[in-house]
Amino acid sequence: MEKEYDYLIVGAGLYGAIFAHEATKRGKKCLVIDKRDHIGGNIYTKSVEGINVHTYGAHIFHTSNKKIWDYVNSFVEFNRYTNSPVANYNGELYNLPFNMNTFYQLWKVKTPEEAKAKLEEQIGDAFVENPQNLEEQAMSLVGKDIYFKLIKSYTEKQWGRKATELPAFIIKRLPVRFTFDNNYFNDTYQGIPNGGYTKIVEKMLEGIEVRTSVDYFKDREMLKNLASTVVYTGMIDEFYDYRFGTLEYRSLRFEHETLDKENYQGNAVVNFTDGETPFTRIIEHKHFEFGTQEKTVITREYPSEWKKGDEPYYPVNDARNEEMFKQYKELSRSEENVIFGGRLADYKYYDMHHVVGIALKKVAEVFKEEALVG
Ligand code: FAD
Ligand code: UDP
Repeated sequence: MEKEYDYLIVGAGLYGAIFAHEATKRGKKCLVIDKRDHIGGNIYTKSVEGINVHTYGAHIFHTSNKKIWDYVNSFVEFNRYTNSPVANYNGELYNLPFNMNTFYQLWKVKTPEEAKAKLEEQIGDAFVENPQNLEEQAMSLVGKDIYFKLIKSYTEKQWGRKATELPAFIIKRLPVRFTFDNNYFNDTYQGIPNGGYTKIVEKMLEGIEVRTSVDYFKDREMLKNLASTVVYTGMIDEFYDYRFGTLEYRSLRFEHETLDKENYQGNAVVNFTDGETPFTRIIEHKHFEFGTQEKTVITREYPSEWKKGDEPYYPVNDARNEEMFKQYKELSRSEENVIFGGRLADYKYYDMHHVVGIALKKVAEVFKEEALVG
């Protein structure tokens, strides 16, 4: 029987919005639903006092892939924001990522040679060829001062686990540089969409039917029957009623505050790397867009344990969860009319540029076209 829609897209986040946009462009009829009361998923931004507030945490778009960069810029223009967070360790300020500025602040070394010699001394006997956990990785990369002042407590707060129990790859993302360059990312392109991220998703979903505050699992049979194919971007274990167990996440709590002052901390992101401060960072949103408003909005980010029903933010990709995910993944391969995608269905720590890449790849696969991105 002819269905009302070609695609029912569960999730109005970046993945769902790209899929819906591209399918619609190819003449397909889409319905997008989201259980939240807004579109955009975790990249949603909301205007408060004229400032675009990153409701679910700071989001900076960065990529070295020109096609991905051009793709997102075709919806909204991006500004020239460069992420350069500052770390506050018990009141001492250090530049991130680890670069000549940080080395000078820590040890007063002024040249790359001096910095390299100091790092070698700091690493000393802690160096291991194949680090098995985050502590070994960090000690082998930057040694003890940086590890104890800028990494250990921040990481243990963030993940709620000992650094020795965390995978090494988490810290590999942080560059170490022997130049005076505070750019947090090594990518060729970086920026924030002018007018906030919600605008991009709005543009993608223009002319497409969207229903918010609709949970797929509250009326699954009815919703499923509306379309020939379901594109599912929610949690994969929930899709299968947790039959192999519950995949774990790390959660976050955001405390937003509007302040009657123009400039609170002088930077968009300040990380608190000591063990006592209960939050990991304070975001001052206006600085993402060089705002000149009279007021400012700040957000304290508190890491928290995740339990069913909380927002799932970071997948915990340890051996146990990976094993469980494999079982779900295997099962999902046999679904005929369901496409799984996005960070929750793939249980992966994707950045936005990854999501753009995988969504466009999926579109190419479904419509039997050459992929825009490799
Ligand atoms: P989501 O945005 O999670 O969208 C999935 C949607 O599906 C959600 O809106 C959800 O409500 C909906 N949904 C789930 N289940 C159901 C259901 N049963 N029924 C209906 N709807 C449902 N990336 C970067 O590139 N740069 C950054 O600086 C960056 N910072 C980040 C900071 C934080 C704190 C976090 C958590 C992530 C960050 N990311 C960053 C990653 C970025 O948020 C993701 O890559 C991106 O948002 C993932 O998009 P998605 O569509 O896969 O998932
Ligand atoms: N990290 C750290 N100190 C910092 C910032 C980051 O030790 O000041 C570590 C921490 O383990 C964190 C990882 O680096 O989980 C990745 O941090 P990043 O800010 O790149 O990722 P995000 O949390 O924004 O996804």
